[in-house]
Amino acid sequence: MKVVLQNLTKIFPSRDKKAGKEVVAVNDFSFEIPDGKLIGLLGPSGCGKSTTLYMISGLQKPTGGQIFFGDDDVTNLPTESRGVGLVFQNYALYPHMTVKQNILFPLQNLKGADKMSKKDMLERAYHAAKLVQIEDLMDRKPGEMSGGQQQRVAIARALVKMPRVLLLDEPLSNLDARLRLQTREEIRRIQRETGITTIFVTHDQEEAMSISDMIVVMKLGVVQQIGAPQEVYDNPINLFVAKFLGTPPINVFDGAVKDGKLYIGEEAVLDINGVADQEVTVGIRPEGFVLDDNGPLTCKLTSLEVMGRDVSVVSENAASQNPVVRSIINADNKVDVSAENVKYSLKAHKVFIFNKETEERIYF
Ligand code: ATP
Repeated sequence: MKVVLQNLTKIFPSRDKKAGKEVVAVNDFSFEIPDGKLIGLLGPSGCGKSTTLYMISGLQKPTGGQIFFGDDDVTNLPTESRGVGLVFQNYALYPHMTVKQNILFPLQNLKGADKMSKKDMLERAYHAAKLVQIEDLMDRKPGEMSGGQQQRVAIARALVKMPRVLLLDEPLSNLDARLRLQTREEIRRIQRETGITTIFVTHDQEEAMSISDMIVVMKLGVVQQIGAPQEVYDNPINLFVAKFLGTPPINVFDGAVKDGKLYIGEEAVLDINGVADQEVTVGIRPEGFVLDDNGPLTCKLTSLEVMGRDVSVVSENAASQNPVVRSIINADNKVDVSAENVKYSLKAHKVFIFNKETEERIYF
């Protein structure tokens, strides 16, 4: 089921009538989510991702714009008529019910023509439980299960009604690191197996990038960039997106373009074509540095962090906007830790420059 958002806007009135300002939580969001894809809605706290999800689910009414599921305009439909499955951060299971009863619950509430026989309901419940691999735990109560297992139950409960669209709001936030990793892969598998168009809200860029077909990066209610995760990582359209994606994060420097060269401090680090002389902000991905004794960029070596296959070289540079410059190099490279400085040349496609005021990308 494709989902179309047309000029979707949500404005919350000010709470304090005199001094307060209204909050534009989502501002003119238009996007067509292709059928059967997993979309990651991504951005820092307060950027409007949950509000977007709640409008798609029907839990919140848009101030403006429309929402379509396929050709159906669902903008004014109540949640229960939209055919959405919802999974939240706190699993919201009924503690006094068994897993089986929890999963059956949405089916038992169906009315009229949708009403199902007991046998069909059980079949559906077991099918959903099998999908999330909890069919052996059907007689347990939520309190007798791990967080990861409880979240699987919540997903099964959302799937049991065979929703047209699956909506997940920070579903992994309450899980520990290892379970998060495992459960996110599970979500991806379940989504592939069912082919249900899925929208996944998270503030964790790594999580969104690892499982999404496409990511939508939001800031203060405004969509910044939409694309395949790698595409957005490789081609951020502004400094915000460049900074938001990537672990370790992108290194940011004060720089300048002069006579066809990009300068960081006094050092001309790269040839730049077709850009007028100006001060710029420079972003360099950690993997964009190449150790090179004759390289143009000099940084003061601080420490090395071994990460197994790779080594993170931590250094300092007066033009850096961050306290440290962090490069990632292959562990086969030998770095002399006693050296005062480290010298780099740069991979041009890992270097981005941005307008100093607008922070928009300048292409070269
Ligand atoms: P988080 O990751 O912290 O949940 P988010 O990106 O999901 O953040 P939203 O919850 O969508 O952000 O909130 C977007 C903006 O709308 C925020 O500034 C928030 O304070 C505001 N907001 C959300 N719900 C309401 C409400 N019911 N009344 C007033 N303002 C609200």
